[in-house]
Amino acid sequence: MENLNRPLPKPITPEVKPFWDGLKEHKLMLPKCDDCGKPFFYPRILCPFCHSRRISWIQASGKGKLHAFEIAYQSFNPEFKIPPPYILAMIELEEGPRLMSNLINIEPDPAVIRCDMPVEVVFEKLTDEITLPLFQPAR
Ligand SMILES: [Zn+2]
Repeated sequence: MENLNRPLPKPITPEVKPFWDGLKEHKLMLPKCDDCGKPFFYPRILCPFCHSRRISWIQASGKGKLHAFEIAYQSFNPEFKIPPPYILAMIELEEGPRLMSNLINIEPDPAVIRCDMPVEVVFEKLTDEITLPLFQPAR
């Protein structure tokens, strides 16, 4: 058993299963509406744009840009054991949807982090069931 450095997500509802199954295979999957054609995040049973229930899944490129970030100098959740400072990041994917993640493999220094910098996904396996999509500066 790995020594977990953060709380484990508990994907319990069926509409999020393809997202977590994809991550296990190093695929970043996004739900996409069959009616209006827009991908969205987070996964849910209704399209947030047109309320259609006809949802498919697409594989995202894993590329995007840093929409916003915050450097955390203190963790308020005792289960979160990554030594601060670390970077909380709102990532805007190439496909449009945004998701919260961490930006890694860069100094947590506001002098080097820039909004809109290109980023790419990195898959971090926590357990056999859970792999997280983290992001790093695009290479
Ligand atoms: Zn729609």
